[in-house]
Amino acid sequence: MIPGSFDYHAPATLNEAIKLLGELGEDAKILAGGHSLIPMMKLRLAEPTNLIDINGLSDLNYIKEENGYLCIGAMTREATLETSDLIAEKYPILKDTSEVIADPLVRNMATVGGNIAHGDPANDHPATMVALGAEVVIKGPGGILGGRERTIAIDDFFKGPLMTALEQNEILTEIKIPNPNGKSGATYKKLERKVGDYAIAGAAAALQFDGDNCSSAGIALTNVGPTPIRATEAQDALVGTSVSSDDIDKASELAAAVAQPVGDHRGSEEYKRAVVKILTARAIQTAKDRAEGGS
Ligand SMILES: Cc1cc2nc3c(=O)[nH]c(=O)nc-3n(C[C@H](O)[C@H](O)[C@H](O)COP(=O)(O)OP(=O)(O)OC[C@H]3O[C@@H](n4cnc5c(N)ncnc54)[C@H](O)[C@@H]3O)c2cc1C
Repeated sequence: MIPGSFDYHAPATLNEAIKLLGELGEDAKILAGGHSLIPMMKLRLAEPTNLIDINGLSDLNYIKEENGYLCIGAMTREATLETSDLIAEKYPILKDTSEVIADPLVRNMATVGGNIAHGDPANDHPATMVALGAEVVIKGPGGILGGRERTIAIDDFFKGPLMTALEQNEILTEIKIPNPNGKSGATYKKLERKVGDYAIAGAAAALQFDGDNCSSAGIALTNVGPTPIRATEAQDALVGTSVSSDDIDKASELAAAVAQPVGDHRGSEEYKRAVVKILTARAIQTAKDRAEGGS
C-alpha cells in the first residue's frame, strides 16, 4: 500500500530536530532507518503528517568505550554493530543479536536506537539490553545548551507494546552498557520460523562470576509479553551457584514460568513457553562457557 501524505524535514543538528518535534507536535515522527516506521505507514497503521529524518545526524553514529561504559549512538546501523571488532571481541552478545535481526538489506539501514525506541516486544535488542543492564540517554527541549538530557535505566524504558518512556518531543541519543569486568559472559538466542523473521521467542543471558560462583545474572526474554521480560526469579536462582546443569534447568523453568506468550501463527502458548525454557537454558550455558573463555 501507499503511505498517507506527509511533509519531510531533514534537520542538520540534534537541537534542530528536537525543536522541530516540539513545533510540529503530536503528528510528527522521527525517521531513523525507516524499517519499522515505513512498513507501518504503508499499512496506514501510522499516519504521521511530518517526518523528521535524522539520518543526517552523523554525530549519533558511533561505538565507543567511555567512563566504564560501551556507548552506542542511536543512529548506529545494525550492520555496523555486526561487523565491529570491538563488539566481536568484548560484547559478542550484541553481535549475536544484530546478526539475527531481519536480513542484511534491513540491517544496512536499521538503527540500534530505532530498534529500541520503537518499543516492539518482537524486536531483539530490547531483551539483550535488559539482560546487560543498559541505560538509555534521551534528549529533549530546554537545558542550558538547548537540549535537556536524561538517562534512564532500560527497565524503566519499555511501557507496553510500541510504548516507551520517550516523550513526544524527545530523541533517544545513546545506549550505554556497563563494561564487562572480570569473569563474565553473555549471549542471545532466538528461534525464528525462517531466516529474517521476528522471534517465536528469544532469550538473553549475561552472567558475572566471582571465582566459580555466579555473582550476578541478567536474563531477559523477547516476544513473549507486551514488553521484553526480565526473568528476575531465574536470575536469582543462578546467583551464588556454580551454574551447574541442575541450576540451569531450574533457572530456565523459572524463565518459562514468567513468560506471558500469546498463541498465534508462530505457535501456541505452550509451545512458546517450551521454546523459552530451551533457549534460556542454551543462553545460560553459552554465557557460562564464554565466561570460562570459550567462544
Ligand atoms: C522485513 C523486516 C524484518 C525485520 N525483522 C526484525 C527482527 O527479526 N528483529 C528485530 O529486532 N527487528 C526486525 N525488523 C525491524 C528493524 O530492525 C527495524 O529497522 C527497527 O526495529 C527500527 O529501527 P529503524 O532505525 O528502522 O527505525 P524507524 O523505523 O525509522 O523508527 C521506528 C520508530 O522509532 C522511532 N525512532 C527511531 N529512532 C528514534 C530515536 N533515535 N529517538 C526517538 N524515536 C526514534 C520512530 O519515530 C518510529 O516511531 C525487521 C524489519 C523488516 C522490514
